[in-house]
Amino acid sequence: MSPIRGQCLCAAVKFSGTHAESGFGACHCRMCQRWAGGPFLATSTSGITFDGEENLVRFKSSDWAERGFCKKCGTNLFYKELESDSYEMCVGTFDDLNSFALNEEIFIDRKPAAYDFAGDHPRLTEAETIVRHGPVPPIPQ
Ligand SMILES: [Zn+2]
Ligand SMILES: [Zn+2]
Repeated sequence: MSPIRGQCLCAAVKFSGTHAESGFGACHCRMCQRWAGGPFLATSTSGITFDGEENLVRFKSSDWAERGFCKKCGTNLFYKELESDSYEMCVGTFDDLNSFALNEEIFIDRKPAAYDFAGDHPRLTEAETIVRHGPVPPIPQ
């Protein structure tokens, strides 16, 4: 998918990018649950630039990553590893949602029983997630 555009709820922060993966991931880890208020749904992007950067708060949520949100309306916008140039943008913030498909769930063993996503895609446990995506420091509860 390219190019891409999106914004927060109040439009104080807008973004555009050169590319977004059409498949997005759902993370059920405890940090994402608390931050997103539920599953965290995001896709990898490249070439992201922000309009309204003065309204964007970057919260360093761990030693390895930061999470961004609008300081006016609180919309969660992205997760980003500090060493990476790629933003994992929240799929709900994109202007066009219709071309995205869920292609992976991670930390599935942290998902509460009350909800499930439909579809036939990989569902990785915490241990499988770390094998697939590389070692990460312990996830806070
Ligand atoms: Zn906003
Ligand atoms: Zn997570």
